[in-house]
Amino acid sequence: MNHEMNKETYPFVMRPLPYEYDALLPVIDEETLHFHHDKHYKTYVDNLNNTLADYPGLQQMSLKELLIGLEQLPAAAQKPIRNNGGGVFNHELYFDAMKSPVGQEPVGTLAEAINRDFGSYKQWQEKMKQAAMGQFGSGWAWLVTDCAGKLSIVQTANQEVPDLAIYTPLFLVDVWEHAYYLQYQNRRADYVDGWFGLINWRKAQKRYEERC
Ligand code: MN
Repeated sequence: MNHEMNKETYPFVMRPLPYEYDALLPVIDEETLHFHHDKHYKTYVDNLNNTLADYPGLQQMSLKELLIGLEQLPAAAQKPIRNNGGGVFNHELYFDAMKSPVGQEPVGTLAEAINRDFGSYKQWQEKMKQAAMGQFGSGWAWLVTDCAGKLSIVQTANQEVPDLAIYTPLFLVDVWEHAYYLQYQNRRADYVDGWFGLINWRKAQKRYEERC
């Protein structure tokens, strides 16, 4: 997610996929991506805009500002913005943080931070998989950094986000069933295993360098 994106305000506009619909094969197929991006993600964008249409005072706020300041928003706006604003934020990062599954490993200072904070890439991967598998029901597993560059793995339920006042998300894996069920049915572990190969480490490194 770049800086321009963080400045966007109402009305929020759908972002196209940054790759073709068949780019993530064989891990994620075209049908899944069409449903996920063109239907599920679109619904969150539409519902966020529908909510904000009723609150002119919130229309100059970026998505990040809305999510950080959720508790200060009008009471009736909080739940729809948590659900739909979070849905937009989470899906934009999810899609943007993936790439074709052709060999790429953690690079640069992020690779060093993974070794420092988790012991090794392999140990990080085990913990990340546990977070993705251990999220009961719908939600997400994230790799985030604080402003000092310390990495953490975070789980969130539904469309909730980590504390964006503290953390810069680097990437996340969607473990709602709509992310994998057409292809994998109940085999979440197979989807998560494949997802590791989709991580765009160059973009993650860029986010890591631009944190806070
Ligand atoms: Mn999703």
